[in-house]
Amino acid sequence: MEKENVCIKCYNMLDKVAEKLKLNESEIDILTIPKRTFTFSFPVIMDDGSTKIFTGYRIQFNNARGPTKGGLRFHPEVDLEDVKMLSFLMALKCAVANIPFGGAKGGVTVDPKKISKGELERVSRAYMRELYKFIGPDTDIPAPDVSTNPEIMAWMLDEYEKIIGKHAPGVITGKPVELGGSLVKDISTSLGGVFVLKEIIKEFNMKPENTKVVVQGFGNVGMNAAKILHEQKYKVIAVSDSKTGIYDEKSLEIEKVIEHKKNNKSLKGFKSAKEITHEEILELDCDVLIPAALEDQITKENADNIKAKIVLELANHPVTAEADTTLEKKRIAVVPDILASAGGVVVSYFEWVQNSMNYYWTEEEVLKKLEKYMITATKEVEKECKNFKCSIRDALYISAVNKVLDAERLRGVLK
Ligand code: NAD
Repeated sequence: MEKENVCIKCYNMLDKVAEKLKLNESEIDILTIPKRTFTFSFPVIMDDGSTKIFTGYRIQFNNARGPTKGGLRFHPEVDLEDVKMLSFLMALKCAVANIPFGGAKGGVTVDPKKISKGELERVSRAYMRELYKFIGPDTDIPAPDVSTNPEIMAWMLDEYEKIIGKHAPGVITGKPVELGGSLVKDISTSLGGVFVLKEIIKEFNMKPENTKVVVQGFGNVGMNAAKILHEQKYKVIAVSDSKTGIYDEKSLEIEKVIEHKKNNKSLKGFKSAKEITHEEILELDCDVLIPAALEDQITKENADNIKAKIVLELANHPVTAEADTTLEKKRIAVVPDILASAGGVVVSYFEWVQNSMNYYWTEEEVLKKLEKYMITATKEVEKECKNFKCSIRDALYISAVNKVLDAERLRGVLK
């Protein structure tokens, strides 16, 4: 019998692990069928007086380990199947990071570059009016993701609090610090990834000053990763955004690149480096390749040409399942998103904890705690890799799946 609402992509991603862990049908169902799926359509008055109907989604995939948690994406290609897979990955990511949350994800099908700021605010508030009944600090907590930011989180928080008539900062994370956001949140995904990388390169006997890094994507995550890596003496030799890539085999001057990007809204026209294509940047000779843009960037078409020794997934699901098999055969170490980009949700967890205490930590305290969580998670997976003699991805999935299923078992959902 066809199963309703099953996440086919999740099903495929669990393939290897299901076999290794000998998962039964009920366990696979729990891991591949989202608990709650919402699709909203809502009208927004545009600047020219017309009314446009937008579509928004929220999926609360699994809440066995705690309230569901996950970002909101504003992108023209947001669709339900992608949101399902991304919310499933969030459930695994929270388990890997050892934080007491389940997984969720949401978004609106919209190109934020094509609407005015006022329209963006009305879309954000209208989305929250649809969602507010189904979320809360103890049920489901959204956060920023692609093309959403602290300003949008602030509008959404304000809308939520106006409706419920009281303060509830823990309903959303990634807020501006003035509204209860956590220090370090703005760079947390990138910094968390750098903490993981620092542990992984030790296994390869590499040192930052001899490590050549390529970063795909120059938004919140990619730009901050390039900046932190450059500050820590890694050689960042190439970066790209949606318009172009730039390359300097010695090392890019990242501060100048950031200034150029801020002034021109694009990397195009950056004079002190060679311009290269989106295809070329991924295939450069380097030690570490960091996809930090969108999903499905390393595919069966280009996987064979990847020359990096390590792929650190800061974007969500940037390597397809077929490409992953090719990279494994080429003995390229792929550090999956559910570990590499977990820093964002770890600091989101810190933000939520601080909101519930109404007591706020210093930057130093947050940095120290983030490092501890990321290093613990990395060491845990290194141990599992050795135990199971498997890739980092398989070890992470085995450990995360076990944690989710254990929680279901303790609740009596599974025997
Ligand atoms: P963002 O919108 O700030 O940046 C995305 C960047 O990717 C932009 O610079 C854009 O120009 C670039 N880009 C788009 N298509 C590209 C292409 N084909 N080649 C090169 N660059 C391209 O988004 P973000 O918040 O930086 O998120 C990036 C990724 O990291 C996403 O997959 C997101 O889900 C993931 N992520 C983000 C967070 C977070 O806290 N922001 C946390 C975990 C994971």
